[in-house]
Amino acid sequence: MNADPTGPTEKKGQPGLVSAALSGLCPRCRAKTLFAAPAGLANRCSNCGLDILSLERGGRFVGVVTMLLALVLILAALGVDEWLHPPLWASLLFWGPLTVGSVIGALRFYKTMWVYHQYEESQP
Ligand SMILES: [Zn+2]
Repeated sequence: MNADPTGPTEKKGQPGLVSAALSGLCPRCRAKTLFAAPAGLANRCSNCGLDILSLERGGRFVGVVTMLLALVLILAALGVDEWLHPPLWASLLFWGPLTVGSVIGALRFYKTMWVYHQYEESQP
């Protein structure tokens, strides 16, 4: 049954990754239990008991990705500074929330992606 080379079925039955990341859906029971903090995974699903912590293990590249993103944003902020010379308060008002928001968003997305990948791998 699994020997069909032309029809990979890996997407079958998966909730959209973006909506899973946005609402933090558990990969097994799809309750909204994946995140305990805005960008922090729960240790385990409080609904079905899935061990999220062990699924997250090995996902340390997530932090690297996030730091790269923050670096890009800071460089972009410096670029705009050079270009427009906005007052400092305007820069902080604009880039502060944008940086925090993007980093949290990216963390949520990458962590969800990683946990879902690990969960699929762990299935027989
Ligand atoms: Zn669950």
